Amino acid sequence: MGLKIVQAPDPGLREVCEPCTPGDKELLKLARQMAKMMYENNGCGIAAPQVGRNIRLVVIDVDWDGEDKSTRNPIFLVNPEIKELKGDPVTDMEACLSCPGISVPISRQPWARVGYFDLDGEEWEIEGDELLGRCLQHELDHLNGRTLFEACEPNVRIKAIQAYERARELGAQPGQSMIEVEA
Ligand SMILES: [Zn+2]
Repeated sequence: MGLKIVQAPDPGLREVCEPCTPGDKELLKLARQMAKMMYENNGCGIAAPQVGRNIRLVVIDVDWDGEDKSTRNPIFLVNPEIKELKGDPVTDMEACLSCPGISVPISRQPWARVGYFDLDGEEWEIEGDELLGRCLQHELDHLNGRTLFEACEPNVRIKAIQAYERARELGAQPGQSMIEVEA
């Protein structure tokens, strides 16, 4: 059965996800499918609730150039947890496969350190700033039922919702950015 990207305002995107079991064969299969969907839709990250699974699993790859498949290097994060955030908040545009057609200004601390398990159950940490720091925070937000609309400033939220409605009318697909919401 093929997976589909769940799009806002699907209530499944607003749920807090359950921890999952590293090493589970089904988890491995799901993780591979999620990575495929992420690359096919030009995303740099994807979280399980975005494919309709309410579990704490994230895939990211902020380095792939979108061209050479052999350079794809997805990182699978099972039960990831923010350990530390650092730096003065920076506002930048974010898009989301579950909110196709819009990008939204979101303020985040630039540097993040995240603890997680790999698919075999080994414990790791990943840390970084810029796109990686932002992507980690964005994807972990999904595990707590937070989308772009909850992550942005309250005064931006109304504009973001209106822009999203417009983008949906225009038939926006995951990975497409049509409307930039102003801060
Ligand atoms: Zn997202």
